[in-house]
Amino acid sequence: MQTIRGFRDILPEHISLWQRVEQEAFSLFESFGFKEIRIPVLEKTDLFARSIGETTDIVEKEMYTFSDRKGDLVTLRPEATASICRSYIQHKMYATDPVRKFYMTGPMFRRERPQKGRYRQFYQIDAEVFGIESAYIDSELIFLLNELFKRLGLTGLTAHINSLGCPECRPAFQRALLDFLGKRKQVLCENCTRRIQKNPLRILDCKVDSCQKALEGAPATIDHLCQACDDHFTIVRTTLERQGVAFMVDKSLVRGLDYYTRTAWEIKTTTLGAQGAVAGGGRYDGLVEELGGPATPAIGFAIGFDRLVEVMEQLKKNGQDPPLDLFIVALGNAAMAKAYHWSCDLNLAGFRTGMDSRGKSMKSLMKRADKLNASHVLIAGENELKENQLILRNMDTKDQTMIAIDNLVPTLMTLLTK
Ligand code: ATP
Ligand code: MG
Repeated sequence: MQTIRGFRDILPEHISLWQRVEQEAFSLFESFGFKEIRIPVLEKTDLFARSIGETTDIVEKEMYTFSDRKGDLVTLRPEATASICRSYIQHKMYATDPVRKFYMTGPMFRRERPQKGRYRQFYQIDAEVFGIESAYIDSELIFLLNELFKRLGLTGLTAHINSLGCPECRPAFQRALLDFLGKRKQVLCENCTRRIQKNPLRILDCKVDSCQKALEGAPATIDHLCQACDDHFTIVRTTLERQGVAFMVDKSLVRGLDYYTRTAWEIKTTTLGAQGAVAGGGRYDGLVEELGGPATPAIGFAIGFDRLVEVMEQLKKNGQDPPLDLFIVALGNAAMAKAYHWSCDLNLAGFRTGMDSRGKSMKSLMKRADKLNASHVLIAGENELKENQLILRNMDTKDQTMIAIDNLVPTLMTLLTK
């Protein structure tokens, strides 16, 4: 039996990077007042169709949608924002406190062509903020991403930011865009020709080469902002500059989901080829109301967890599993029985401790300690047990010390945590 195409196992030897990213991200988010939220993997199809947009790539061709046994249409979530909005509305969170900051991580599902950095089940780390209209929260989210990537030792990332405007300034921009596209109808792909009527903004995000070429010199949202959107974007930029966050204004950035307004951004790397975006985010001030809640400004981002880990692996930062603090070489049944209890006690005391209870020779056990990258080895043979002591061997310096079996844990605490 094999996994389904585009689905994969993440094996224990790769997991330490995933865990490190989660720990860094969650502790950073918590210190900025975010709380974890957990949401279902399956939702009504309608939720995604209405929020992400009927004419987006995701909804048109990437969703895993099926009817359940009663015939209701359900979809494996392709992203988290829509579900988090649904939850915010369903539980009337706005009534007790409209200002909420959430984070979550989990699998997302999109039926795209699988390749490096692109899977059909992939993982995102998400952060969303509700109830704050001020541009400082836009800066805060971009600042947080920048800080997280810094803590993870990532280099070579660039933040591309843009403003997509609001319902105030959209119509003027849309007119300019339609005017521009009208002259290039013949060279657009089939999808885009269809989208001219339904959703011209989507054309700007088309990945087809000929469309990209035809779009050179297309009007940009940023040149058609109303005063309020322009002021908002100015605060975002100047705040980031003051905080020393490197970014570039990218007029052509539009994002693949319909719900975005005002600030939108992507963090890009050059190390993953075509799959260059490791995170994307933006404001979606209209979405909560669109989904049946009260008018609520909101903003959020999603990190592509799989891609982030791939960049880290490429940079060979901490790619190895953490080494063991101790490996117990127990020779013979009597030693083995004791070693089992020591290893439990030592693990509980915070030492990463290993042993091998397959009854092997001294030589092969020492080899195993080497393989596991143990910094110290505790040797328990018949003679040592008789004398009620153990040999502690430092695997770097090869120094050996005898230590008493009584008070083993406190003794090791003093010896190894110096
Ligand atoms: P792309 O342009 O690469 O398709 P996107 O705009 O569709 O990305 P978003 O919806 O903004 O992606 O999702 C946020 C992040 O999730 C992306 O920046 C990317 O890192 C990651 N991501 C999106 N789709 C996939 C996928 N199929 N496999 C792995 N990671 C993905
Ligand atoms: Mg995509």
